[in-house]
Amino acid sequence: MQKDILKNSNKETIENEILQKAESGIRISSEEALFLWKHGNFKKMGITAHSIKCKKVKKNIVSYTVFRIINYTNHCIIRCNFCSFTTQTNSDSKEYTLSPDQIIKQFETSYKHDVKQLFLQGGVNPELSFDYYLELLRKVKKEFSDIHIRAFSPVEILHMSKNTGMSLSKIFLELKDAGMDSFPGAGAEILSDRMRNILSNKKASTYDWVLTMKTAHEKNLLSSANIVWGSEETDEEIIDHLAIIRKLQDDSKGILSFVPWTFQQQTKNFKVRYVPTYEYLKMVALCRIFFDNISHIEASLLVHGEKAGELALLWGSDDINSPVIEENVLRSYGLKTIKEAENFIKKAGFKPVRRNFMFEYDKKS
Ligand code: SF4
Repeated sequence: MQKDILKNSNKETIENEILQKAESGIRISSEEALFLWKHGNFKKMGITAHSIKCKKVKKNIVSYTVFRIINYTNHCIIRCNFCSFTTQTNSDSKEYTLSPDQIIKQFETSYKHDVKQLFLQGGVNPELSFDYYLELLRKVKKEFSDIHIRAFSPVEILHMSKNTGMSLSKIFLELKDAGMDSFPGAGAEILSDRMRNILSNKKASTYDWVLTMKTAHEKNLLSSANIVWGSEETDEEIIDHLAIIRKLQDDSKGILSFVPWTFQQQTKNFKVRYVPTYEYLKMVALCRIFFDNISHIEASLLVHGEKAGELALLWGSDDINSPVIEENVLRSYGLKTIKEAENFIKKAGFKPVRRNFMFEYDKKS
């Protein structure tokens, strides 16, 4: 297919045609996306992506959100070989599981500082019963009735389903009833079964990951989605990943935002290559150009740092996500306070707007 695209024209002509097509609002194909990824000029892609962004999202604004992450357990049997967070992959780390009361105590300080969003994230811990998750949600919601809880990930949900024998639908309904408000699109990394086997032979398959996300969206538990690249994946696998997400969004319309980021060297067991800033920006632009059905593309300051994050705002991204109050899974460059986030956005030339997990903008901003 790639050969077909190249058959009749030179690369610059093809690139210009694909970019014009995207800018005029016509969906580009996976083959065209692959062409841009392999041969596109990252600056030209950035100009197109920014122009599309300005049509989709109010031109001069960039949003941020404030939330607290609590990692409720660091025990995980999935053993992703890039992850240094769990006791299974980091022998120095002490195993812990927080009780609902400990979580309440940890969140209290954030709540007092007007943080009304809690992100619960943890490993796949075989010792936790389904009741633990329900009790956790119920108790936290009882204590803080006006907060939004984003929680768990497809791999944890699949584990709950396997352990209880309950369908994914039933699991989501029960969690929702207990207080879960939305769902992260975590654990996608690269949706290629070849790569997933390299990450961990216990990783959820592409099929199971997509099925879990679709089921969450059907239950009105909306989410984000992401790609993590920068290892041994092929260009084709990257584009397949984006195509899977776009199709999921066509089917379920439950993805609020997309976040591209790269693997970080956390362990010696996993090959991570250096991803230069221009490649990161090219990915941000490609996401904006390819995802005609996803409104928001987030810049990842946590992984790529402030300089690349600032440029990403001109390459199609409209959100910086931060400030995050705590993040154990990733090395953190994140902005720590609202003031830092707002100053960062202003310095980049945009008007900061606070938003919530559902991408509703704060009217006071
Ligand atoms: S990335 Fe998530 S699923 Fe994989 S080992 Fe770490 S905590 Fe477990």
